[in-house]
Amino acid sequence: MALTPVTEALRQILSDAAPSGEELVPLEQADGRVLAAPLAARRDQPPADMSAMDGYAVRQSSLARLPATLAVVDVAAAGHAASRPVGEVEAIRIFTGAPLPENADTIVIQENCSRSGDRITITEPQPAGRHIRRKGLDFSAGRTLLPAGRVLGPHDISLAAAMGHGAVSCRTRPRVAILSTGDELVRAGEPAGPSQIVASNAYGVAALVRRAGADAIDLGIARDTEQALADAIDRARQARADVLITLGGASVGDHDLVGPALKTAGAEMDFWKIAMRPGKPLMSARLAGMRVLGLPGNPVSSLVCTRIFVLPLIAALAGADPSIYSRRHNAVLGRALPENDQREDYLRAKLSPGESVPVATPFASQDSSMLATLAEANILVIRPPYAPAASAGSSCEFIYLDISASAPLL
Ligand code: AMP
Ligand code: MG
Repeated sequence: MALTPVTEALRQILSDAAPSGEELVPLEQADGRVLAAPLAARRDQPPADMSAMDGYAVRQSSLARLPATLAVVDVAAAGHAASRPVGEVEAIRIFTGAPLPENADTIVIQENCSRSGDRITITEPQPAGRHIRRKGLDFSAGRTLLPAGRVLGPHDISLAAAMGHGAVSCRTRPRVAILSTGDELVRAGEPAGPSQIVASNAYGVAALVRRAGADAIDLGIARDTEQALADAIDRARQARADVLITLGGASVGDHDLVGPALKTAGAEMDFWKIAMRPGKPLMSARLAGMRVLGLPGNPVSSLVCTRIFVLPLIAALAGADPSIYSRRHNAVLGRALPENDQREDYLRAKLSPGESVPVATPFASQDSSMLATLAEANILVIRPPYAPAASAGSSCEFIYLDISASAPLL
């Protein structure tokens, strides 16, 4: 079977991926959730003209002749409006956030007047309207401020609260079941013999999918038998997973039984094997309503394929924009690279500041079992299939590994 190009594989994975439901989410739990409908303000902010400073609310006409001495007749504080309008030759003591008293058009900050008993004296002209926050300065009732599909962040949540919402309608989180496969695998922290390997992939993959807005369901470790895999696939369906991610067993070795087990269960294969390094044995299938992504077992392959394929799928299933995960940036290479073969290469690299363009330095060894270099890397340098040899200083493209690094560039 021919190797499927990366962009085509992603296109097939994302085809007809759409959000399935919505639910009301309290603001306390809304960080990272995706808005299901545009959010409009329920109130004006500020709800009335308000003072932005501590001082005195007066009428401009009282300052026609200077110096002017005015009688302080009332107080307005945040949450406590004055009990009367301000009259001619009068002032109302006012504090930041207090509603502007009726008939007042000027705030004299306390630094600009002298007080003696119940009187203030003003010697300099005071511009009208200054230090007054007009009703609706921030936004007016009815205005839509957050669009559907917005991934809510801390600032959005404060905005939604100020708009008068205590809870917001969000897309349901996609459910992603994660299954490790292999006779050699043990859980992290358990005693492991010399021929055993810690099933490290599941931990990082679960953390990534949670960050991307999905619920992760741990299906544990299935041994390399068709029966164990069939049982695990059943458990994924019982758990109503939208996506099943299998880790390992996706190649064509005698012990690579994920493909056969899926076929026995009735899955339809989209593709199996892509033109990518790391990650050639990537499988995409559908089993009734459940999407299945079979990721290669090598730790770097599992995590990089999650970054490239699973996170955009979660975004699409949550009703957010999946393209944020594919956003590429420019850098110059910090080391020479040999020519590439037919597979698109995703090289673990470190980004550092350069003179005008940042410098991307791929690690010398790119073996897909090496998690230490993945943890040290902050970007993946992307080399197209058949890219010619490139010298240090030549331009290259990269994506950020940390998914939050893409967010400010939206
Ligand atoms: P496989 O794709 O099953 O042939 O596995 C390829 C390599 O990845 C083997 O060296 C496995 O031991 C290793 N491997 C498979 N699954 C995991 C996992 N969940 N965590 C860490 N390493 C794994
Ligand atoms: Mg295996």
